[in-house]
Amino acid sequence: MGVNKAAYEKLMGEMQNSGATLIAVSKTKPSEDIMELYDLGHRDFGENYVQELVKKQAELPQDIRWHFIGHLQSNKIKMIAPYVHLIHGVDSIKLLEAIDKEGRKLNKEINCLLQVHVAKEETKFGLDLVEARQAATMYFLEKKYPNVGLCGIMGMASFSEDEALLKQEFGALKTLYDEIKTLYAADAAAFNTLSMGMSGDYPIALASGSNMIRVGSLLFGARG
Ligand SMILES: *Cc1c(COP(=O)(O)O)cnc(C)c1O
Repeated sequence: MGVNKAAYEKLMGEMQNSGATLIAVSKTKPSEDIMELYDLGHRDFGENYVQELVKKQAELPQDIRWHFIGHLQSNKIKMIAPYVHLIHGVDSIKLLEAIDKEGRKLNKEINCLLQVHVAKEETKFGLDLVEARQAATMYFLEKKYPNVGLCGIMGMASFSEDEALLKQEFGALKTLYDEIKTLYAADAAAFNTLSMGMSGDYPIALASGSNMIRVGSLLFGARG
Protein backbone atom coordinates (compact mmCIF):
# COMPACT_ATOMS: atom_id res chain seq x y z
CA MET A 1 0.00 0.00 0.00
CA GLY A 2 1.07 3.57 -0.54
CA VAL A 3 3.22 5.17 -3.16
CA ASN A 4 6.89 4.40 -3.79
CA LYS A 5 8.19 7.93 -3.42
CA ALA A 6 11.80 7.02 -4.25
CA ALA A 7 10.61 5.55 -7.55
CA TYR A 8 8.57 8.70 -8.20
CA GLU A 9 11.53 11.01 -7.59
CA LYS A 10 13.73 8.89 -9.85
CA LEU A 11 11.11 8.91 -12.61
CA MET A 12 10.61 12.67 -12.33
CA GLY A 13 14.36 13.14 -12.71
CA GLU A 14 14.22 11.07 -15.88
CA MET A 15 11.27 13.15 -17.10
CA GLN A 16 13.30 16.32 -16.64
CA ASN A 17 16.19 14.89 -18.63
CA SER A 18 14.04 13.57 -21.46
CA GLY A 19 11.32 16.22 -21.58
CA ALA A 20 8.70 13.46 -21.45
CA THR A 21 5.49 13.47 -19.39
CA LEU A 22 4.78 10.85 -16.73
CA ILE A 23 1.23 9.50 -16.48
CA ALA A 24 0.78 7.81 -13.11
CA VAL A 25 -1.45 4.82 -13.81
CA SER A 26 -3.68 4.50 -10.77
CA LYS A 27 -6.15 1.85 -11.96
CA THR A 28 -7.42 -0.40 -9.16
CA LYS A 29 -5.58 1.75 -6.58
CA PRO A 30 -7.40 3.79 -3.92
CA SER A 31 -7.88 7.55 -4.09
CA GLU A 32 -5.59 7.94 -1.05
CA ASP A 33 -2.67 6.71 -3.19
CA ILE A 34 -3.52 9.26 -5.86
CA MET A 35 -3.61 12.00 -3.20
CA GLU A 36 -0.10 11.07 -2.06
CA LEU A 37 1.26 11.86 -5.50
CA TYR A 38 -1.09 14.82 -5.89
CA ASP A 39 0.38 16.32 -2.72
CA LEU A 40 3.84 15.99 -4.28
CA GLY A 41 2.55 18.11 -7.17
CA HIS A 42 1.58 15.39 -9.63
CA ARG A 43 -1.48 16.05 -11.82
CA ASP A 44 -1.51 13.50 -14.66
CA PHE A 45 -3.19 10.22 -13.78
CA GLY A 46 -4.27 7.31 -15.96
CA GLU A 47 -7.28 5.05 -15.50
CA ASN A 48 -8.53 2.03 -17.47
CA TYR A 49 -12.09 1.54 -16.29
CA VAL A 50 -14.94 4.01 -16.84
CA GLN A 51 -16.81 3.34 -13.60
CA GLU A 52 -13.66 3.68 -11.57
CA LEU A 53 -12.70 6.94 -13.28
CA VAL A 54 -16.19 8.38 -12.76
CA LYS A 55 -16.00 7.65 -9.04
CA LYS A 56 -12.47 9.00 -8.58
CA GLN A 57 -13.09 12.09 -10.68
CA ALA A 58 -16.04 13.01 -8.47
CA GLU A 59 -14.16 12.66 -5.20
CA LEU A 60 -10.69 13.95 -6.12
CA PRO A 61 -9.42 17.49 -6.87
CA GLN A 62 -10.81 18.98 -10.05
CA ASP A 63 -7.44 20.06 -11.43
CA ILE A 64 -6.29 16.47 -11.98
CA ARG A 65 -5.71 15.72 -15.66
CA TRP A 66 -7.36 12.36 -16.26
CA HIS A 67 -5.99 10.15 -19.02
CA PHE A 68 -8.21 7.30 -20.14
CA ILE A 69 -5.86 4.52 -21.22
CA GLY A 70 -8.15 1.50 -21.35
CA HIS A 71 -10.45 0.08 -23.98
CA LEU A 72 -13.40 2.46 -24.28
CA GLN A 73 -16.85 1.28 -25.29
CA SER A 74 -18.82 3.74 -27.42
CA ASN A 75 -21.79 3.76 -25.09
CA LYS A 76 -19.60 4.93 -22.19
CA ILE A 77 -17.89 7.88 -23.88
CA LYS A 78 -20.48 10.28 -22.50
CA MET A 79 -19.57 9.34 -18.92
CA ILE A 80 -16.05 10.72 -19.26
CA ALA A 81 -16.28 13.17 -22.18
CA PRO A 82 -17.01 16.32 -20.12
CA TYR A 83 -13.75 16.17 -18.17
CA VAL A 84 -11.31 13.65 -19.66
CA HIS A 85 -7.98 15.28 -20.55
CA LEU A 86 -6.83 12.74 -23.13
CA ILE A 87 -8.22 9.44 -24.43
CA HIS A 88 -5.22 7.26 -25.29
CA GLY A 89 -7.08 4.17 -26.45
CA VAL A 90 -8.80 5.07 -29.71
CA ASP A 91 -8.52 1.61 -31.19
CA SER A 92 -11.05 1.75 -34.02
CA ILE A 93 -12.35 4.25 -36.55
CA LYS A 94 -15.84 3.59 -35.23
CA LEU A 95 -14.75 4.78 -31.80
CA LEU A 96 -13.16 7.89 -33.31
CA GLU A 97 -16.50 8.64 -34.99
CA ALA A 98 -18.41 8.10 -31.76
CA ILE A 99 -16.07 10.37 -29.79
CA ASP A 100 -16.50 13.09 -32.43
CA LYS A 101 -20.26 12.78 -32.09
CA GLU A 102 -20.06 13.16 -28.32
CA GLY A 103 -17.75 16.16 -28.73
CA ARG A 104 -20.30 17.79 -31.02
CA LYS A 105 -23.01 17.37 -28.40
CA LEU A 106 -20.80 19.07 -25.82
CA ASN A 107 -19.57 21.65 -28.32
CA LYS A 108 -15.93 20.84 -27.55
CA GLU A 109 -12.92 19.05 -28.94
CA ILE A 110 -12.10 15.82 -27.15
CA ASN A 111 -8.37 15.08 -27.15
CA CYS A 112 -7.41 11.62 -28.42
CA LEU A 113 -4.50 9.43 -29.35
CA LEU A 114 -4.76 6.68 -31.95
CA GLN A 115 -3.89 3.37 -30.34
CA VAL A 116 -1.76 1.46 -32.79
CA HIS A 117 -1.06 -2.24 -32.58
CA VAL A 118 2.50 -3.21 -33.41
CA ALA A 119 3.15 -5.99 -30.90
CA LYS A 120 3.25 -9.57 -32.05
CA GLU A 121 0.69 -10.57 -29.44
CA GLU A 122 -2.79 -11.07 -30.82
CA THR A 123 -4.69 -9.92 -27.76
CA LYS A 124 -3.87 -6.23 -27.73
CA PHE A 125 -6.38 -3.72 -29.02
CA GLY A 126 -5.47 -1.20 -31.64
CA LEU A 127 -5.46 -0.03 -35.22
CA ASP A 128 -2.95 -1.61 -37.56
CA LEU A 129 -0.60 0.65 -39.52
CA VAL A 130 -2.92 0.81 -42.53
CA GLU A 131 -5.94 1.74 -40.43
CA ALA A 132 -3.93 4.33 -38.50
CA ARG A 133 -2.88 6.03 -41.75
CA GLN A 134 -6.50 5.89 -42.88
CA ALA A 135 -7.68 7.51 -39.67
CA ALA A 136 -5.05 10.25 -40.00
CA THR A 137 -6.10 10.93 -43.59
CA MET A 138 -9.75 11.20 -42.64
CA TYR A 139 -8.92 13.46 -39.74
CA PHE A 140 -6.36 15.80 -41.30
CA LEU A 141 -7.26 15.81 -45.00
CA GLU A 142 -10.99 15.08 -45.07
CA LYS A 143 -11.59 16.88 -41.77
CA LYS A 144 -14.15 14.29 -40.78
CA TYR A 145 -13.87 14.60 -37.02
CA PRO A 146 -13.92 18.30 -36.14
CA ASN A 147 -14.81 17.63 -32.51
CA VAL A 148 -11.78 15.45 -31.94
CA GLY A 149 -8.39 16.92 -31.08
CA LEU A 150 -5.96 14.39 -32.52
CA CYS A 151 -2.84 14.68 -30.36
CA GLY A 152 -0.74 11.71 -31.42
CA ILE A 153 -0.18 7.98 -31.14
CA MET A 154 -0.27 5.46 -28.30
CA GLY A 155 1.08 1.96 -28.37
CA MET A 156 2.27 -1.00 -26.36
CA ALA A 157 5.14 -3.31 -27.04
CA SER A 158 5.01 -7.05 -26.53
CA PHE A 159 5.19 -8.29 -22.95
CA SER A 160 8.74 -9.52 -23.36
CA GLU A 161 12.28 -9.09 -22.11
CA ASP A 162 13.66 -9.28 -25.62
CA GLU A 163 15.17 -5.81 -25.98
CA ALA A 164 15.64 -6.09 -29.71
CA LEU A 165 11.95 -6.89 -30.14
CA LEU A 166 10.89 -3.98 -27.91
CA LYS A 167 13.18 -1.60 -29.82
CA GLN A 168 11.72 -2.79 -33.10
CA GLU A 169 8.12 -2.33 -31.92
CA PHE A 170 8.67 1.09 -30.32
CA GLY A 171 10.65 2.05 -33.41
CA ALA A 172 7.69 1.18 -35.63
CA LEU A 173 5.43 3.44 -33.54
CA LYS A 174 7.94 6.29 -33.69
CA THR A 175 8.24 5.92 -37.47
CA LEU A 176 4.46 6.08 -37.86
CA TYR A 177 4.26 9.09 -35.55
CA ASP A 178 6.94 10.93 -37.57
CA GLU A 179 5.27 9.98 -40.84
CA ILE A 180 1.87 11.36 -39.79
CA LYS A 181 3.48 14.44 -38.30
CA THR A 182 5.38 15.16 -41.51
CA LEU A 183 2.61 14.33 -43.96
CA TYR A 184 -0.38 15.89 -42.26
CA ALA A 185 0.44 17.61 -39.06
CA ALA A 186 3.49 19.78 -39.70
CA ASP A 187 1.29 22.78 -38.88
CA ALA A 188 -0.82 21.03 -36.30
CA ALA A 189 0.98 21.88 -33.07
CA ALA A 190 -1.48 19.80 -31.10
CA PHE A 191 -0.25 16.60 -32.77
CA ASN A 192 2.75 16.23 -30.50
CA THR A 193 2.32 13.15 -28.31
CA LEU A 194 3.86 9.70 -28.61
CA SER A 195 2.58 7.71 -25.63
CA MET A 196 4.61 4.56 -25.15
CA GLY A 197 6.40 2.86 -22.29
CA MET A 198 5.22 1.25 -19.03
CA SER A 199 6.91 0.12 -15.81
CA GLY A 200 8.80 -2.71 -17.45
CA ASP A 201 9.91 -1.08 -20.67
CA TYR A 202 9.84 2.71 -20.33
CA PRO A 203 13.64 3.24 -20.62
CA ILE A 204 13.61 1.59 -24.04
CA ALA A 205 10.51 3.56 -25.01
CA LEU A 206 12.17 6.85 -24.06
CA ALA A 207 15.30 5.90 -25.98
CA SER A 208 13.02 5.17 -28.95
CA GLY A 209 11.46 8.64 -28.92
CA SER A 210 8.52 8.38 -26.53
CA ASN A 211 7.46 11.66 -24.95
CA MET A 212 4.75 10.29 -22.65
CA ILE A 213 5.08 7.21 -20.46
CA ARG A 214 2.35 5.42 -18.52
CA VAL A 215 3.67 3.91 -15.31
CA GLY A 216 1.60 2.04 -12.74
CA SER A 217 3.10 -0.80 -10.74
CA LEU A 218 6.49 0.85 -10.32
CA LEU A 219 4.78 3.73 -8.49
CA PHE A 220 1.83 2.09 -6.78
CA GLY A 221 2.98 -1.50 -6.37
CA ALA A 222 1.72 -4.62 -8.10
CA ARG A 223 -2.00 -4.88 -8.80
CA GLY A 224 -3.96 -7.69 -7.16
C1 LIG B 1 -1.98 -0.82 -16.78
C2 LIG B 1 -1.45 -0.06 -17.95
C3 LIG B 1 -0.25 0.64 -17.87
C4 LIG B 1 0.66 0.61 -16.66
O1 LIG B 1 1.24 -0.65 -16.54
P1 LIG B 1 2.41 -0.93 -15.46
O2 LIG B 1 3.09 -2.12 -16.01
O3 LIG B 1 1.74 -1.17 -14.16
O4 LIG B 1 3.29 0.27 -15.44
C5 LIG B 1 0.15 1.39 -18.97
N1 LIG B 1 -0.60 1.44 -20.09
C6 LIG B 1 -1.76 0.78 -20.20
C7 LIG B 1 -2.52 0.89 -21.46
C8 LIG B 1 -2.22 -0.01 -19.14
O5 LIG B 1 -3.36 -0.68 -19.29
